[in-house]
Amino acid sequence: MIYGDRYRYDYIMARISPCPNTGCWLWAGSVKSNGYGQVGGKFRIKKCHVHIAVFEHLHGPVPKGLELDHLCRVRSCCNPDHLEPVTRQENCRRSPMLRAWAVRQQERQKAKTRCKHGHPFDEANTRHRPRGSRDCRACGRIRAKNKAAKKAMEANRDAVEASAADGPVLVPDGVPGDARDLVPAAGA
Ligand SMILES: [Zn+2]
Ligand SMILES: [Zn+2]
Repeated sequence: MIYGDRYRYDYIMARISPCPNTGCWLWAGSVKSNGYGQVGGKFRIKKCHVHIAVFEHLHGPVPKGLELDHLCRVRSCCNPDHLEPVTRQENCRRSPMLRAWAVRQQERQKAKTRCKHGHPFDEANTRHRPRGSRDCRACGRIRAKNKAAKKAMEANRDAVEASAADGPVLVPDGVPGDARDLVPAAGA
């Protein structure tokens, strides 16, 4: 759907003031809390971002799967020359705020000497991933062990259920309580 066609372009342009210094087309109308200008919401016209409406009016619909990246980083700017359709991944990669956050996260992770369960991040216990993050080997072993135990318990329960269909059975030793509950009481 071409948003630009749903709005009177002159209505939008009358509410835009070009910035002489940056060349940004600043939206003087309603601005959402996230900083993007918006139009619509009346006369059954769907709300949409002003910069998308302007871009689509001039260039046609934004290709599916892409979003408009503000090259000028001014969210209320509608200058189509400052907009470029990019993938979401690319848009996030370009965002200075998200990049700074990612760097802070990485540094925080690197500063840790122990995993969240208290195992040391020493040479013997650390598996280095290609992208720079670290894995705790001790935690990995515990995860594998828990997975195997869960699988064994499920197999055991299936066996008990299958034999229960044939009639009352003796519950084998070592079957956890919840599996025991599935076996009908003798004489039932
Ligand atoms: Zn701009
Ligand atoms: Zn650990």
